[in-house]
This record gives sequence, structure tokens and C-alpha cells, in this order.
Amino acid sequence: MVSKKVCAINHCKNDLSGQQRLSFHSFPKDVHISQKWVKFANNSRINEVMRTFGHLHLSLNYSICSNHFKPEDFVPNRGSSRRLLKYGVVPSLNLPVTSPPLAKPLLKK
Ligand SMILES: [Zn+2]
Repeated sequence: MVSKKVCAINHCKNDLSGQQRLSFHSFPKDVHISQKWVKFANNSRINEVMRTFGHLHLSLNYSICSNHFKPEDFVPNRGSSRRLLKYGVVPSLNLPVTSPPLAKPLLKK
């Protein structure tokens, strides 16, 4: 088991090392919202964890980085660098940093 936080999004390689501008947000404890996060993550490992251990385990051990949330998804929090998500927010941005949008369609299996 690794304790280091890594983004759960399939193609996202962000982790806590050297990413000062990122914040990491644990999977929600609400199962319905959690399922939406899992769907968005599109990550077979996350799907497996959800199936095997359930959403609470997911919430304790996995996070999604702030790259996948819109600015308005965060609670306005002046004077603190710690960002919090509004309740019920679902990640909606899935932009690979390396390739520009519209370069090529996503591969589907
Ligand atoms: Zn990420």
C-alpha cells in the first residue's frame, strides 16, 4: 500500500510531489456522488476498488486533483490556500496536459 496521493483520473499523472498549485480532493462519502466520480475517473483500478471495498474505502484512500474541477466548484475561501469543494460537486474537466483538445478523438475500446 502506498500512502502517497495520486490523482485517480485514468490518464492523469499528478501527485503531491512538486505540484504546489494542485489540491487533492478525496472521493465523497456520499455513495451517489462517489459513483459519479468513479464514472468520471474512467480508471479500471478505481472501478475495482469501488466494487471490492466500496465507496468509503475509496474516500479514505483515493483523491482527484484540482485540475478536474471548475473554479466555481470550489468554496470561495479568501486568505487561505487550502481549497475546498462545494458539496455534491462532480469533476468535469478531463484535460490531458500534454495534448491539445481536438487533436484527436479519444480512443474507445
Ligand atoms: Zn488529476
